[in-house]
Amino acid sequence: MVTRRAVLVAAPALLILPARANEPLPVLASFSILADFAREVGGDRVSVDALVGPGQDAHTFHPAPGEAQRVARARVIIVNGLGFDAWMDRLARAANFRGTRVVASEGIRTLKARRHHHHGHGHDHGHHHHGDADPHIWQDPKRAQVMVRRIAAGFSAADPAGRAIYEANAARYNERLEALHAWVEAQFQSIPREQRRVVTSHDAFAYYGERYGVTFLAPQGVTTRAEPSAQQVAQLVQQIRRERIRALFLEDMANPRLIEQIAREAGVRVGGTLFSDALSPPDGPAPTYEAMIRHNTRMLVEALAG
Ligand SMILES: [Zn+2]
Repeated sequence: MVTRRAVLVAAPALLILPARANEPLPVLASFSILADFAREVGGDRVSVDALVGPGQDAHTFHPAPGEAQRVARARVIIVNGLGFDAWMDRLARAANFRGTRVVASEGIRTLKARRHHHHGHGHDHGHHHHGDADPHIWQDPKRAQVMVRRIAAGFSAADPAGRAIYEANAARYNERLEALHAWVEAQFQSIPREQRRVVTSHDAFAYYGERYGVTFLAPQGVTTRAEPSAQQVAQLVQQIRRERIRALFLEDMANPRLIEQIAREAGVRVGGTLFSDALSPPDGPAPTYEAMIRHNTRMLVEALAG
């Protein structure tokens, strides 16, 4: 009996032994924020790369032909899902990828993607064809914790010998994200709810907004691929004046011209730059997810309190 049990336990470990036991697990994330989560969970057991790096826009990303090779070299790929990074799945098919695919949004309660907040005449410019869920789930530090657990589960599936390490790393990191969430909540406490209204270029902050009671208006909708019509811009300018919205923000990876134009026309100053869909380079203000949430929160609170 004892012998049989030992064999049963040992067999799976033999089957999944990594090709080179001392090499870190090669992981490819679709964009920089997922890569940061992956590094926290994997530590030095993994080597993480991102297809869409710091400061780059995943919405408009077009993989170069050679990038299927980067997918082929990975043993784990991490996608957000919800139509945000569908190009990663196309690459995986092209590369005949047979490793572990982690969908970080799995099991997360999503919000419906808002259309342009003015339902006037411009209508849909064909950018909601990926379905109705807003993909920007990472902007909520509570949902981010679910994403972190997904990644840990994916790493454990690809590298069962590391399971205890991945789970411990994920639990420790999630404690930090829980503390981060509490910190954000505390920052907003002194700002009356009705004052928490902000304009950004694209609609990337609905999850953050829902969590912390901030209303975000965005002329571009949930993707940076869309251009609002002149009429939609004019309506937004009117709304800013009417509702006395005081905070307008640029985004790290979006064209600043639109927001600068709206700020001029509405007579409101630009509060700064928020990081929405990408981290900053290492020497910038948001090189990690935690730094990004802190930076965005400080900018928002400063502009709304001022
Ligand atoms: Zn976005």
